[in-house]
Amino acid sequence: MQLLDGTSCSKEIREEIKKDVNSIVARGERPPHLAAVLVGNDGASQNYVAFKVKDCKEVGFDSTTIRLDETITEKELLNKIEELNHDEKIDGFIVQLPLPKHINENNVILAINSKKDVDGFCPENVGNLVLGLPTYISATPNGIMELLRRNKIETEGKHCVVLGRSNIVGTPIAVLMSRNTAPGNATVTMAHSRTKNLKELCLSADILIVAIGKTEFVKADMVKLGAVVIDVGQTRVPDSSKKTGFRNVGDVDFGNVKDKCSYITYVTGGVGPMTRASLLQNTLKAHQRR
Ligand code: NAP
Repeated sequence: MQLLDGTSCSKEIREEIKKDVNSIVARGERPPHLAAVLVGNDGASQNYVAFKVKDCKEVGFDSTTIRLDETITEKELLNKIEELNHDEKIDGFIVQLPLPKHINENNVILAINSKKDVDGFCPENVGNLVLGLPTYISATPNGIMELLRRNKIETEGKHCVVLGRSNIVGTPIAVLMSRNTAPGNATVTMAHSRTKNLKELCLSADILIVAIGKTEFVKADMVKLGAVVIDVGQTRVPDSSKKTGFRNVGDVDFGNVKDKCSYITYVTGGVGPMTRASLLQNTLKAHQRR
């Protein structure tokens, strides 16, 4: 079994980005600038945004965090997005999800200018992804593809089973893995909560990508010997032995599954750091596209 190391792979990507930023600044241009809109006080969302700001600083990007009160109306948030759409100093921005229940997330995603949509969530960017046109591929699926590419994992002709059909992970990774690219050219099955015979399906997977948000759902008896397993899941569970009071648990029972795999990711140091590096790649792209 070999661990697919997202930490070292993401470091490599950040080093490449740093070099590009140095060249941009040496040409006398301003560095790429990412803005993050954070609504309310959700602990996990605050952490994610703090990481994004730290990442920007590390590679030499400018960053701005816009903190908005939990009680902000949808209209006020849409006005803020309109401002960001027209702000010449900002190349790309994200609105950290989830949003408070009184705000319709779809309306927010639809309001973001596709050229600044570095999360790759808006219809134009998703459509371009499906058509294989230049776009911002959303960070997690892009990070998974980079991890496969940089570790030279063979995907052509393989059976790839994707567990989960969310708009931000399951659906785009299924599209990417089935495209005529490398990595890609896999035969993809996308499964969800209504799929029958899930165990048999998973057992037929050469590559198993799991994004369901159910802790340690994939057990050893669901994994084929020699499979490549990518665990996207990341659920916080209380843990009093940790300073933070919680630990992240994946969707795969790593301890028992790992010995059956040729390659596997671990919940920390796997897909998470690759997702963060991909957002930086998209922001650099947004700067280059201006
Ligand atoms: P989501 O929107 O929560 O959707 C979950 C998907 O899993 C749905 O399609 C659901 O099916 C399916 N599902 C749920 N239970 C299932 C079961 N028992 N069998 C088969 N399918 C099942 O998913 P998400 O936003 O993609 O997140 C998934 C996980 O990935 C979460 O733990 C999240 O925290 C993590 N995540 C991690 C990163 C990272 O950077 N590491 C990034 C994004 C997400 P239905 O459609 O039928 O309901």
